[in-house]
Amino acid sequence: MAVPKRKTSKARQRSRSANWKVVAPVLTPCPQCHKPRMSHRLCPACGYYDGREVVEKKT
Ligand SMILES: [Zn+2]
Repeated sequence: MAVPKRKTSKARQRSRSANWKVVAPVLTPCPQCHKPRMSHRLCPACGYYDGREVVEKKT
């Protein structure tokens, strides 16, 4: 198994960590209930995806 030849230095570790940021999720309004929803995901508010109800919600 390949093993790193050298220990990762503090500077290298820190400069790599500096480029790792938390990104806010992309939210788009749901076409069914107009609440913010992550794109390409089932709507958590109404349970709709692609114009049909996928998950039944408690009413
Ligand atoms: Zn919805």
